[in-house]
Amino acid sequence: MRAMILRHPRAPLEVESGRAVRALGPDDLSIRVLACGVCRTDVHEVDGDLIVPKLPIVPGHEIVGRVEALGAAVERWRVGDRLGVSWLASTCGVCDFCRSGRENLCDRGRFTGLDVDGGYAEVAVADGRFCFPLPPSIPDVAAAPLLCAGAIGYRALRFVSEGQRIGLYGFGAAAHIAVQVARHRGQEVFAFTRPGDRAGQEFALRMGASWAGGSDAAPPDLLDGAVIFAPVGELIPKALASTVKGGTVVAAGIHLSDVPSFPYRLLWDERVVRSVANLTRADAAEYLALAEQIPIRTTTTSFPLREANEALARLRSGQIEGAAVLVPESAGRA
Ligand SMILES: [Zn+2]
Ligand SMILES: [Zn+2]
Repeated sequence: MRAMILRHPRAPLEVESGRAVRALGPDDLSIRVLACGVCRTDVHEVDGDLIVPKLPIVPGHEIVGRVEALGAAVERWRVGDRLGVSWLASTCGVCDFCRSGRENLCDRGRFTGLDVDGGYAEVAVADGRFCFPLPPSIPDVAAAPLLCAGAIGYRALRFVSEGQRIGLYGFGAAAHIAVQVARHRGQEVFAFTRPGDRAGQEFALRMGASWAGGSDAAPPDLLDGAVIFAPVGELIPKALASTVKGGTVVAAGIHLSDVPSFPYRLLWDERVVRSVANLTRADAAEYLALAEQIPIRTTTTSFPLREANEALARLRSGQIEGAAVLVPESAGRA
C-alpha cells in the first residue's frame, strides 16, 4: 500500500508505494483509510520538536476508515464497519494510571503515528479496543478532526467548565471546534489569534466567538478560564494576566515553547496553570456522542494523500482555516 513516511525529522515526508501492512495481532483491525486529519502534533514530529522513538514512521492519528480484516480475537467489529482511530493506540491496562481511570497517563502508553504507523496511508492497522464508532450523520472528512483536535479541546474545556467567559488562544482546528462546545454550554468565547491575523479573527467570529483579537490585545472582560492551543509558552503569563482570581489556564498542546518567567502576582489568588495530556477512551466516546448532538460543524480543507507536505506547510504557516484533512486516492474505491 502507499503511505507518506517520516524518515528524518526536519525533512519532507516521502512517498513509499510498497509499504507492507503490518501483520494483525489478535485484537487488531486492518482499516481502509477514508480520511486522516492533519494535527499540529504531526507538524511537531516532522519539525523535530517531538522525538519519534523509531523511524521511519507513518504519521497521522485522526483516522476515519472502514474495517477490511479482523484479528482472531476481535468481537466488537465487523468487516465493513466505519470507525475512528485516535492518538491513544494502546495502554498496559495494569499500571496505577490505567487502573484509576487515567489511561491517558499510562506508563507504557503507545500513540498512533508516533509509536505505531498512523493514517497518512491507504491502509492502517489499529487495536480494535482503541477504535470508536462514528456517528453516521458526520461525513468522513468532517469527522477526522473530531478524533484529536476536537476531543483534546473537549478534555481541556472540562478544566474550565465552571466559567462564563472562556479565552481560546490560537484559533485553528481544535479551537474552531471547542468554540462550538463552549457555546453549547452557554459560555461566551473570546478568541486570540496571531497578532494582525484579521482573517483568523473573522473566522473566529463566524464560528461563534463574541470577541476576537490578537494575542497581544487585552480582552474586553477578564476570562474565567483559558485554553492555550498555540504552541507558544509566552501565552501562559499573558493568559494569566487576563484571568480572574481562581481561574484556570490549560495548555492543550503536546509541545510548547519555553514558558518565560513571570511575577508571582499573576499566579496569586489561586489561579491555576495545568496541561492536558492525551485522551482516555471514555473522553473520546463521550465527546463523539456530544459532537453528534450539538451538532459540531467542522471547517476543513482536503488534500490528496500525496500532498501531505503541502498540508503540513500550510498548517505550520497558519494558512489553514479550521482543519486540514488528507484523503487517499484509494478512498473513493473502497
Ligand atoms: Zn498503563
Ligand atoms: Zn493530535
